[in-house]
Amino acid sequence: MSSQISPHVRVRFAPSPTGYLHVGGARTALYNYLFAKKNNGKFILRIEDTDEARSTQESLQGVVDDMVWLGLKWDEGVDPITLQDVGPFGPYRQSERLSIYKEIVEQLLNSGKAYYCFLTDQEIEKQREESAAAGHFAHVNSPYQDWTLEQAKVKLAAGEKAVVRFKTRELKKDYIFNDQVRGEVKFPSDMVGDFVVLRSGGMPVYNFCCAIDDHLMKITHVFRAEEHLPNTLRQLMIYEAMGWQAPEFGHMALILDEDRQKLSKRKGAVACGQLKQEGYLPSAILNFIALLGWSHPEEKEILSVEEMIQAFDISRLNLSGAIFDRVKFKWMNAQHLRATPNKELWNLVQPFLARENMELPQDPAWQEMSVSVFKTSMETLVDAIELYKPLNDKSYVVLPEADETLKWEPTKAVLSAWRDLVKAHPSDYMTEAEFLKIQDEVKNITGAKGKNLFMPIRVAVIGKPHGTELKTLVPLIKKSSLVQRAEMALALA
Ligand code: GLU
Repeated sequence: MSSQISPHVRVRFAPSPTGYLHVGGARTALYNYLFAKKNNGKFILRIEDTDEARSTQESLQGVVDDMVWLGLKWDEGVDPITLQDVGPFGPYRQSERLSIYKEIVEQLLNSGKAYYCFLTDQEIEKQREESAAAGHFAHVNSPYQDWTLEQAKVKLAAGEKAVVRFKTRELKKDYIFNDQVRGEVKFPSDMVGDFVVLRSGGMPVYNFCCAIDDHLMKITHVFRAEEHLPNTLRQLMIYEAMGWQAPEFGHMALILDEDRQKLSKRKGAVACGQLKQEGYLPSAILNFIALLGWSHPEEKEILSVEEMIQAFDISRLNLSGAIFDRVKFKWMNAQHLRATPNKELWNLVQPFLARENMELPQDPAWQEMSVSVFKTSMETLVDAIELYKPLNDKSYVVLPEADETLKWEPTKAVLSAWRDLVKAHPSDYMTEAEFLKIQDEVKNITGAKGKNLFMPIRVAVIGKPHGTELKTLVPLIKKSSLVQRAEMALALA
């Protein structure tokens, strides 16, 4: 059993609203959420939207909606509906924190830890080509790093454009930190050159804002994808320059496709919104992604969020990339679906049926009975569509594949006996036992048996001689509808 870390744990999920919530992002959010809950800490949703060209309001709303749908509730961040700040460390959208970043840029400029750089894109490109031609890789070498702030200000006053770069030349050392997932990580400072912290248009960049916000928002642990490892070096440099203590870092292995490539949408849905459309349950998504890189100490596979919180421990995160096995994902969804109470399951299934304009009984008892009958045949909520179709009066048609059955000698007699017996049934619906009894009576009256008996009745119920078992379907179809369907089949026999 791992012990709790501290009552002051503060972790964050920091999406850039430039697209949809990817399952990888959802997993990052989930691990941070579980860690916060396990340690009685706070989970913060910070919006990293300083990339003006790519950030959109729709994307932000989409990510927020998906997080709410998944049930990953945050304690501080933007309100899910109004997107206004909630919590004492706001603003939580980086685009609203520009004055904070500007102030820190000033401090770094004044202390000589950053400088205005007037290199043009062409000059930088030329440097790159020259170092490539000389067969080695070199970082940007800016002549402006030696300028005084006063000199730079004269040039700025003359209307020249400049970025602000963080000065790395003098650091000359290894940056070592204890990654919560990977153990000791060592980066030589010359792995990065003088990196930009403020673009020429005045917008700060991710690495800079992230370090400042993690500090000001009192973030204690940063768990994120391993692709951010190189950013950690830049961020450590900023913490050091500002004299701040860095949070603990943990970098999680990538999620891979079955062919061990980075998960891509060419192989199937990777957006949470699309998985929702495909009929996956939030609880199944959370369960599945939790196990992509983490395992339960008793190797339990089907887990509720509560069980995950109880058992969550960063030391059980895997170092190697986890495979997104879609077959297993579907199986897991089916398990969660079966465990859902009938009433709740109907509420989940209903929008999928409504999407197909199905007209089905409004009676809650019928609704619950129908899902209890079908739930073991569904892997996703979308599967309900095909299962419920035979129950929808509007979609009853006698299909061409019934032609042969309709031509058989005993069919007409079977259909009319069936219709008469159903008509004589005393209540609106029949039970499975009553159906079997009627079927037996049809057999006795007509002498038809085997497929000569079953197939015509199936045509009279679902319009074709093969399909879901009648004893399952018939109790869900109203007597009047069964009679009407039988008439339609009889008219063609
Ligand atoms: N905005 C970054 C992203 O979406 C967050 C990285 C981090 O967690 O520091 O990848």
